[in-house]
Amino acid sequence: MCPQVGLSQSAFQRSDYTVERKVFADGRLQHHCLICQIFGNPALPSRIVVDDLLCQVAPDTLPEVLRPGVTLNRRRRTAEDQKLFLLETSPVNVQLPFAGHIHLEPDCPDYTKALILAALHHIHALGGSKSAGLGWLTWDIADATVDENAWALLKKEANL
Ligand SMILES: [Zn+2]
Repeated sequence: MCPQVGLSQSAFQRSDYTVERKVFADGRLQHHCLICQIFGNPALPSRIVVDDLLCQVAPDTLPEVLRPGVTLNRRRRTAEDQKLFLLETSPVNVQLPFAGHIHLEPDCPDYTKALILAALHHIHALGGSKSAGLGWLTWDIADATVDENAWALLKKEANL
């Protein structure tokens, strides 16, 4: 877990964890990890704004698909009586396009885009529980170029 301001852990008080113009009332420097410097924490505002992903296809043009399911009793490993349910979902393999933006504030760290792009490429599916297996996705990123200096900066910080 991130100690966030790192007051109690001296190992957290690294030079790359300092944030410009962020000091405590007594003048001590605040330290925030690389992720908190992007997404913020209770003591530091976020430096990005993430839009909702909006479906680019009007929902009334899609046929209604009901996926049946049965509640299972975990102890007995059998289907429960009278527990049939129907889940309304999109047609199979319809490959709906969704669009949204991630806005980087002017003062966001130089490595922000590199880390966000790396994280997005690790997300292959959405959903869970009843919606498991219904949200496979691929990314089409408009501007996926990353400044090489950002990777070099991250590599340097990892070696400290
Ligand atoms: Zn943190």
